[in-house]
Amino acid sequence: MSYVLVINSGSSSVKFQIVDPNSDASDPPFVAGLVEQIGEPQGRITITHGEDRWVLQKSIPTHKEGLEEAFERLALRGVSPRELDVVAVGHRVVHGGMVFSQPEIIVDPVVDMIRELVPLAPLHNPANIDGIEVARELLPDIPHVAVFDTGFFHSLPPAAALYAINAEVASRNQIRRYGFHGTSHEFVSSQVPGLIGTDPDHTRQIVLHLGNGASCSAVANGHAIDTSMGLTPLAGLVMGTRSGDIDPGVIFHLARHGGMSIDEIDELLNKRSGVKGLAGVNDFRELRAMIENEDGDAWLAYNVYINRLRSFIGSYMVALGRVDAITFTAGVGENDKFVRADALDNMEAFGVKIDPERNSLPNDGPRIISADDSRVKVLVVPTNEELAIAQKAAALARRA
Ligand code: ADP
Repeated sequence: MSYVLVINSGSSSVKFQIVDPNSDASDPPFVAGLVEQIGEPQGRITITHGEDRWVLQKSIPTHKEGLEEAFERLALRGVSPRELDVVAVGHRVVHGGMVFSQPEIIVDPVVDMIRELVPLAPLHNPANIDGIEVARELLPDIPHVAVFDTGFFHSLPPAAALYAINAEVASRNQIRRYGFHGTSHEFVSSQVPGLIGTDPDHTRQIVLHLGNGASCSAVANGHAIDTSMGLTPLAGLVMGTRSGDIDPGVIFHLARHGGMSIDEIDELLNKRSGVKGLAGVNDFRELRAMIENEDGDAWLAYNVYINRLRSFIGSYMVALGRVDAITFTAGVGENDKFVRADALDNMEAFGVKIDPERNSLPNDGPRIISADDSRVKVLVVPTNEELAIAQKAAALARRA
């Protein structure tokens, strides 16, 4: 059996999985690990392998020490990446700018280019580079592959990608719509034609990736033609803690009259807004419990969330002209039947009709939830970004 080690490195944490690239999206990974609170007095490593789950509490000064420790623990059970047949290491890289449209085998100039893109993703790309450097040191003989969150949206048509701001200023500062969650949008949209029996080259669809972060995309014949996230993942839909689209004038107002610094506004819009900003919680299970207890703020937050989602769906229906499928994915999209029903409520005139019974079935793999007479098929397709990264990394390593 051959595997891919998938690494998603954050500023104070590293998530990793050892994945069989030929497994199904709903299969659990062979091994899953999380190294967190790196650099803090007390860190934690959590590893899951089959039925076993073990947690180690100790100080983890650096990403390297955290991953090394995790690999040593795995070695005790004979499942460390050094012993298994690992054909590639796939790294999630958040920002590929206009440079990277496809996954890349990581050589030094690729790392340099990812570093040049740091101004576009100041929190994410440096952490991704840390993960790459550490993993290359620990596993020097295996090909490493960077898979970019922006890649799928690299070819957005200019009309969707450009902001109507001064062209010279925009160009100098690389300001445009890049889009994020691309690996998920590509993975999910690529499965839809097979599920509804259409030709992938003639399938128009909307993908709603609704997790803690949320984004949607319009995909025509395998190519993204629009997406809701922009220069950064702050744009578009209302999210767990992010505002999504707001009037940019709000920022000037907060700076001039609200006594807030740019960093404070950044933190406000990214961490204390969205559903959490309106209702105090960001998890949709908690939000639902509050709504059931007739909490007015929770109800309002939910309606603001749904209203924004419906605006994007309508806008993408018009952009696509004809829609074959609307697909829900990620934590909320896969599990929350209320969100799905309300997002598409009262759209029969547009050929969209959910079947309430199908919509109520528990999350159990890809499925169609529209009524038989719905012209537009509505689906739930679980996303699996790690598996998608593993497949891309394995394919590229095989060719290299
Ligand atoms: P991330 O963007 O962090 O990858 P996920 O796609 O894992 O997020 O989604 C996490 C969110 O999914 C949770 O915050 C929660 O709101 C939602 N969620 C998970 N399970 C359920 C469920 N059974 N019902 C409703 N919402 C759920």
